[in-house]
Amino acid sequence: MNSKSSFRGLPSVDKVISDKCIQDLNDQYSHETIVDVTRQYLEGLRVSLSQGNPCPSFADITEEIASQIESLSTVGPRPVINATGVIIHTNLGRSPLSADAVVAMKTVSEGYTNLEIDLENGKRGSRNVHVEQLLCQLTGSEDALVVNNNASAVLLTLSSLCKRKEVIVSRGHAVEIGGKFRIPDVMRQSGAKLVEVGTTNKTYLTDYEEAITPKTAALLRVHSSNFKVIGFTEEVNIEEMVKLGEWYGVIVLDDLGSGCLLDTTQYGLGNEPRPQDSIAVGTGLAMFSGDKLLGGPQAGIIVGQKHLMDKLKKHPLARAVRIDKTRLAALSATLIHYLKGEATEKIPVWRMIATPLNEIEKRAQKWSDQIGNLATTAPGESTVGGGSLPGSTLPTRLVVIKIPANRKVQDLAQELRKQPFPVVCRIERSSLILDLRTVLPEEDSSLLQALSTVLK
Ligand SMILES: *Cc1c(COP(=O)(O)O)cnc(C)c1O
Repeated sequence: MNSKSSFRGLPSVDKVISDKCIQDLNDQYSHETIVDVTRQYLEGLRVSLSQGNPCPSFADITEEIASQIESLSTVGPRPVINATGVIIHTNLGRSPLSADAVVAMKTVSEGYTNLEIDLENGKRGSRNVHVEQLLCQLTGSEDALVVNNNASAVLLTLSSLCKRKEVIVSRGHAVEIGGKFRIPDVMRQSGAKLVEVGTTNKTYLTDYEEAITPKTAALLRVHSSNFKVIGFTEEVNIEEMVKLGEWYGVIVLDDLGSGCLLDTTQYGLGNEPRPQDSIAVGTGLAMFSGDKLLGGPQAGIIVGQKHLMDKLKKHPLARAVRIDKTRLAALSATLIHYLKGEATEKIPVWRMIATPLNEIEKRAQKWSDQIGNLATTAPGESTVGGGSLPGSTLPTRLVVIKIPANRKVQDLAQELRKQPFPVVCRIERSSLILDLRTVLPEEDSSLLQALSTVLK
């Protein structure tokens, strides 16, 4: 085939944009947008034709271009239903917010706020004051600072306190937290020198002690939040690290990961280290996320000693990683739930953790009945996720959907994800598995609707 004949079906930009199908979009989209998308599509098509692929019909071309233009304005990210049973699911946006936190976010977004102004004297203030006191109250800390996320909290801390100095870390703690956030890389980025001690499974206090030199700035603990070393293991607890640090005049830093303020063992889960416990033993600075077990918005929270925090607050990176007003408002509303002792009723992740098994069993049975004869229930396990409590699970009751013989389980899962209110669930042994622990009650009817559509 010569090149001329292979482009014969390719319409001109003018011809495409004067077609009715595209003309209909003129009210909603600028002429530039329509022409741009059309041109790009036709260029792609020219390449495809030159490779010998057949040319689509004119109607198919205009339909595809129209759908590409419309998909540009699909607002995202959009809500999905989490039926995976993983409570803090990083890919699904981690913690859903409490109703109060959502209102707080909306309220400060709609107009101007006193973000950085002292309403008492009209002078410039700090955005940090809105949560500083709350955080000090809840963790027993002298000072607090909130930044973009915990990764930036760790980077800011190391950059401000440890640049060109040594930081001692157990080999069991020099880990990857996820998404390529690796302690050795963050350390390098901050300009601090990582000194690894001990072994992956065993680190003793003497390992830290022997590594301390005049160049040592800090001992760093990193909570192994997304994995568990079991068997022959030994770790130095934070209290012993603090005592050693005090003796040698070295700061102790604690990357807690999750920032869990409540006692997880009362729900049959493992023990997640809490910021208040770290502060109580005298840690210099402790860092944690706002959107893991705290149940708030994305944020990095730093608590600890004032003389250290002052250095962080003055560091140029502090501005680069600062938090915005909407998340500050949501964080403040979330922290107030803890102050009022209502966290387990008001904060969704804690409500999910605290939901008793018999309640989930009743709901699963009701669901199974409504879905019909393809559904049964079975015992299973929910996980906390989001780099919290690895290996710790909550007993749950699953809704198991048997796949009709002529369908594939992956196809059904994909169809569920493509519903108007997308549903994300688990696949196990060629069945679809729904764990209702993570489905908010107000999502029930949308989930049933989605299921009945795809199972038709
Ligand atoms: C999750 C986690 C981080 C990163 O926190 P982000 O808020 O996701 O930036 C850092 N350290 C530990 C130990 C973590 O578990």
